[in-house]
Amino acid sequence: MSENAPANNKVTQGLKGITRIDQIDLKDKRVFMRVDFNVPTEGKGSSIKITDDRRIRSALPSIKYALEHGAKLVLGSHFGRPKSAEDRDKYTMEPIARRLGELLNAEVILIDEPTSDAPKGLLPSLKPTQLLLLENLRFDPGEEKNSKELATQIASYTDVYINDAFGACHRAHASIDALPRLIAKKGIGFLIVKEIEALDSLIHNPEKPFTAILGGAKVSDKIPVIEKMMDLVDSFVVGGAMAYTFLAAKGLPVGGSRVEKDKLAFAGEMLKRCEARGKKLLLPVDHVIAQTFESNEAGTTHDVVIPEGFMGLDIGPKTVEFYKKELSRAKTVFWNGPMGVFERPAYADGTFAIAKILSELRGAKTIVGGGDSAAAAEASGHAEEMTHISTGGGASLEYLQGDKLPGLEVLRNLRPSATPTLEGAQ
Ligand code: ADP
Ligand code: MG
Repeated sequence: MSENAPANNKVTQGLKGITRIDQIDLKDKRVFMRVDFNVPTEGKGSSIKITDDRRIRSALPSIKYALEHGAKLVLGSHFGRPKSAEDRDKYTMEPIARRLGELLNAEVILIDEPTSDAPKGLLPSLKPTQLLLLENLRFDPGEEKNSKELATQIASYTDVYINDAFGACHRAHASIDALPRLIAKKGIGFLIVKEIEALDSLIHNPEKPFTAILGGAKVSDKIPVIEKMMDLVDSFVVGGAMAYTFLAAKGLPVGGSRVEKDKLAFAGEMLKRCEARGKKLLLPVDHVIAQTFESNEAGTTHDVVIPEGFMGLDIGPKTVEFYKKELSRAKTVFWNGPMGVFERPAYADGTFAIAKILSELRGAKTIVGGGDSAAAAEASGHAEEMTHISTGGGASLEYLQGDKLPGLEVLRNLRPSATPTLEGAQ
């Protein structure tokens, strides 16, 4: 796409032509449900701990629905990026199976070898309080290669395919793409419905004023989203490392802050386009700074200037107040990208303050997308007060920028006669 072309010429089709789980007869059917249980953990081996189980909790409505409607249920997910056989201990689904069992109050039977005869043998006699969970799908190299062989093996014990793994929908892997091609009855779960409805509400007639908060590591990662948002929003508030490329494009001194030199032209262009279209683009007016990235000795600048030898690692308190004024007016807010290096306590205040401001907005829709942004919202303690936090970082950004998600496209049935009814699940 050229830098000047509007991103909106890509039309998202939402959930058109895609069947939902509650439109498919599940009674006594062997249902394979692709979920996204790729959760953050800490520790190793038997002491491994899930630090955030949001993704498991988010899949519960579809899982419960399937069990309550008589499905013989098999769940499959990837977890981390296992590279070799030694990684099996690190990336086993065992802790996830345990956590899921607790949350569901059901017996989760872990299947070590998804390509064995075990699932086929166990499925017919499963009780309503039992379900199968396949070991990490990425233990099989065929998963990431979109292997038809792996898909065929899973298909041999699958009558109905459900995808509820929003966070994996942007990857054409075997359990996302090759497998549903082999199954006639297929659809999506409630989490994907919720995710797409939330993102669509930003694209189609968002209530105004609409402010996008942009931050994070790099401008270059976010150019397509910024372009898309340009057509939708009334204002941008910018933080994170991204802010310094914009400030530098305005000719302001940013010291040793992270600046993407090859994106200065884009940033300058964007500032001009915002001005021409009457859209505000707010930049930090003060900063939390340090001499090195690793340093925990932070200082705060008096104004926008970052002295030579220092780098900006968070937005400062004046910026928080400045952004608060803008955000208090908003009826719709989309947030992608932390305001600073929030993983370190010394540089987390700006990000957490923004989360607090959003949590206090009355009558506004607040949607958070992006893996680190979701983690930051969670760490701030304000996650529950947001309208929606996407469980998919990459997937939510790709969807918003108008890219087709392979996991949705493979389930779309757009033949003229096709309406999503019980029979429409072809
Ligand atoms: P998301 O995953 O939500 O899309 P990104 O991956 O774009 O967000 O950005 C998150 C990362 O940006 C975090 O790891 C954070 O430490 C980093 N970051 C934020 N502000 C700065 C900064 N001023 N300098 C360097 N890195 C930053
Ligand atoms: Mg990230």
